[in-house]
Amino acid sequence: MLEILCLTLGPVATNAYLLADSETGEAAVIDPAWDGQVILDEARKRNWRIGGLWYTHAHFDHFGGAAAIASRLVPQPAIALHPKDHFLWQMGGGGALFGFKIDKGPQPSVDLASSQTLELGGLTFEVRHTPGHTPGHCAFYCASDGALFSGDLIFQGGVGRTDLPGGDWDTLVRSIREQVFPLPEATRILSGHGPETTVGEEKRTNPFVGEI
Ligand SMILES: [Zn+2]
Ligand SMILES: [Zn+2]
Repeated sequence: MLEILCLTLGPVATNAYLLADSETGEAAVIDPAWDGQVILDEARKRNWRIGGLWYTHAHFDHFGGAAAIASRLVPQPAIALHPKDHFLWQMGGGGALFGFKIDKGPQPSVDLASSQTLELGGLTFEVRHTPGHTPGHCAFYCASDGALFSGDLIFQGGVGRTDLPGGDWDTLVRSIREQVFPLPEATRILSGHGPETTVGEEKRTNPFVGEI
């Protein structure tokens, strides 16, 4: 069974998701936002072993905790990022624009691509390339548990900003319409900032891309 712990961390209240297959204890972190030690402690409390850090995109507030996590794990976790966001990762995630300098941690070791699947114990996550907020932005979809980890693509009542390097409004809207809205309406959307929502709710009420 998929267990999800949401930790809201860092200077812009970013949601880090600690995920595990509760049968096997295998765990991964989607967007180790900040305070890596806090994420590690939560995993240790539950006897979960973090084997992967999966980045929805390479803005600094989504991987600011990666260095602290990786430095304390043996073996090193697999770090997954879409290659089109490597330029942002190299720049430290654009943190300098906001006055933050982060330790980037280890170089990403897994190139994300559309339709690729990531395994976590007995669970499978489908990678969905969803550019617009950044060129390499991806969402992670767990069909068996009806959950989409949407990063900064879509939020409850909002969408990701497109005014940062590599952002593009039309591309963002297309990503949402093609990669999010066709999913079952009851699918939970667990996004990079703010509370959780569902596909049906956003289709009906999102003021930027919904039906209204
Ligand atoms: Zn972002
Ligand atoms: Zn963000």
